[in-house]
Formats: sequence, structure tokens, C-alpha cells
Amino acid sequence: MRVTSNVAWDERLEAFRGRDTTGFVALLAAAASACAACGLALQHQERLSLIVDITEGRDGGIEYRTVDTRICHGRCRAPGLTLRTAAGAPDELTARGGRLILGHRDSSGIRAIPVLAYTLVPVLTFREPGGELTSALVSILLSHGFRLTLSTDYAEILRNARDVHNSAGCTVTEQGHVCLLINGEQMYSRQLNPAAAGDAAWLQAAAREGKVLVISGDYLQITGTGLNLDAAAALGTLVTGNAPVRT
Ligand SMILES: [Zn+2]
Repeated sequence: MRVTSNVAWDERLEAFRGRDTTGFVALLAAAASACAACGLALQHQERLSLIVDITEGRDGGIEYRTVDTRICHGRCRAPGLTLRTAAGAPDELTARGGRLILGHRDSSGIRAIPVLAYTLVPVLTFREPGGELTSALVSILLSHGFRLTLSTDYAEILRNARDVHNSAGCTVTEQGHVCLLINGEQMYSRQLNPAAAGDAAWLQAAAREGKVLVISGDYLQITGTGLNLDAAAALGTLVTGNAPVRT
């Protein structure tokens, strides 16, 4: 077992992350806000454990790896790492996301920009023969006009976000069903409540702007109370793009 600041982790993780393992552990811990075991908030400098589940497999000629990471109180779970070899395609990934509104100041005043944040769990990477490990989520988004960003500053993200290709878009119905589609395939969907103030404000902003800022990437931390971009940005997987709203 190794300890990085206040986080205990299984040293076998180094075989997968290499020299940046301690940085990786510190990023995950800093981005976590609640214990994955008991659900209670994590306090500053509390003893924590990192639990990692890795699956490796081969689908067709392509090697893949999924990585699921959880931060827990040290008292709730001991640090650990499991490694599994799978036959065939990876298990289904789960989309996690949230909506928020950012204020953007321009010459006309402050505009409310609707944002859809989403990520896939566990993180899926793949390697074509002779190639590097590549994030599945990031490579799909980049091929449809999303762009990588290193900044976690929302004002800068808003300034630099570009429109994505026509193959990507966000459908928003009057009943509040929101769905991000790429090539007609659903990437993430969410039912908002048009009668709830926060959701209604988001739906109005989406209708007014005609586009939604999508923020995605591996290791994006999305909770009921907010969004943490730090780990995704530091690991070079943070992507953004303006997806047109289709009703
Ligand atoms: Zn706990």
C-alpha cells in the first residue's frame, strides 16, 4: 500500500499509470466530494482510500481497458485494486451528467448559457495495433467537432467553445426531455422538470441561445451540487463544444 498526501492506494496501480500515478491519485482525491461507500462528505485531510477496478480485453483486433475509480473514507473501505480480463466487447458504460447555467458577459450584458456536462463510467480506453492508449469518449467527441481544452476557467471555456459538426446536436422537448445525439445515437439524456425553477431556466436559456455548451471528458466529477473539471483538464481529456438545439 502507498499513501499520497492523505490517500492510501494499492501500489499495483503504478503498473497501469506509470510515473504519473501519485499525481493521478491526488487529482482523483481532490476532485471527490463524497465517499463512494457511505455517501457522506469528505473532510479536508481525512484519511481516504482509493479503490480501482480495471478490466482488460480485446474486441476484434483492438485492445481495451476500462478503469473505475472510487474515493472512500479510510474507515469505510480499505484501498484496493482488482484486475479482470474480459472476453469480447467491454461491459456497458454508464453516462453520468448534469445541467448548469453559466453567466456570459458580452456587449449586450450578461447572457445565461445552458451547459450540459456528461461523462462515461467507467473510463474506457483502447489501443489499435501499435498505437497509444486513447480515450473512447474523447476520440468520439473530437471526431465530431468538439475540442480539447486545458482550462478549467468557465469564462475562458465560454470564450473558446466552438460549434460542433452537424452530426452532433441536442434535442430538447417541450416536456423537458434533453438528449445529446451524435450521428443519431444517444450519448446522454436527462429528463428536466419544466415546473421546477432551475430546470425551467435551463430550458428557456437553451431555447433562447439555440445551442448548448457541452462539457465532457474522462474523470469529470459531476455531483448533485456541482461540477469539478480539474482532474479531466489535468489528465488532458477535457473537451467542449456548442451543440445546436433541435426541438
Ligand atoms: Zn464513507
